[in-house]
Amino acid sequence: MPVVELKGVTKEYMLGTTKVEALRGVDLEIERGEFLAVAGPSGSGKSTMLNMFGCIDVPTAGTVRIDGTDVAGLNDKELTRYRREKVGFIFQSFNLIPVLNVYENIEFPLLLKKNLTKKEREAIVMRFVEEVGLSDRLKNKPTELSGGQRQRVAIARALVTNPLIILADEPTANLDSATGTKIVELMRQINEIEKTTFIFSTHDAHIMREARRLVQILDGRIVDAGTSRAKEA
Ligand code: ADP
Ligand code: MG
Repeated sequence: MPVVELKGVTKEYMLGTTKVEALRGVDLEIERGEFLAVAGPSGSGKSTMLNMFGCIDVPTAGTVRIDGTDVAGLNDKELTRYRREKVGFIFQSFNLIPVLNVYENIEFPLLLKKNLTKKEREAIVMRFVEEVGLSDRLKNKPTELSGGQRQRVAIARALVTNPLIILADEPTANLDSATGTKIVELMRQINEIEKTTFIFSTHDAHIMREARRLVQILDGRIVDAGTSRAKEA
């Protein structure tokens, strides 16, 4: 069963009296464990598509299934819980909490899980702190970190709840190309180790090359759905 399935998905926005068709009939299946890039120029519909995967927006028409569930059947409360449990988000601008240090930022999503003790949270946080290579930065605040380090914090924060899918909307857009490449390589390592499905968007050719599957989108349509290289290896 695919972890994400879009069928005939369209998304229209009204911009004043003008209708903008951000997605124009998208069919796509993503399997568990894929390391997939959605690539296309600015305005092609990448963010709109990722918002569908993350259930932060609903389609105008068509079906979105996440882990086999048609999300149209969920009410707001169920949708919120679904998103919290199934999806980890990584943002272009990192979105860390400035008053919290590295450890506390990564721990933050776990505080919503009432059944975990402090010790259990610590074990999870430290595992991912090590995985992203920030063991010596635990007490630092986000402003004391480089862009690459901040994005590492965001990756660890996205992982602690053990989500089914990690969504990263242009995660390297605010990084220089060498740092951006390292960040995507790190995500790929984690994809390999944890088997977490990673879906990221980019318009950078260097970053696309790191993907195991490349879905190319233009004017709201998939022009190439790519094939997964994950199974070959
Ligand atoms: P990308 O992420 O590839 O740059 P987007 O998904 O953000 O593309 O946008 C696709 C199209 O939809 C663009 O034409 C954009 O202007 C339009 N769009 C996106 N979000 C909105 C919105 N909230 N209201 C109106 N138009 C929007
Ligand atoms: Mg975008």
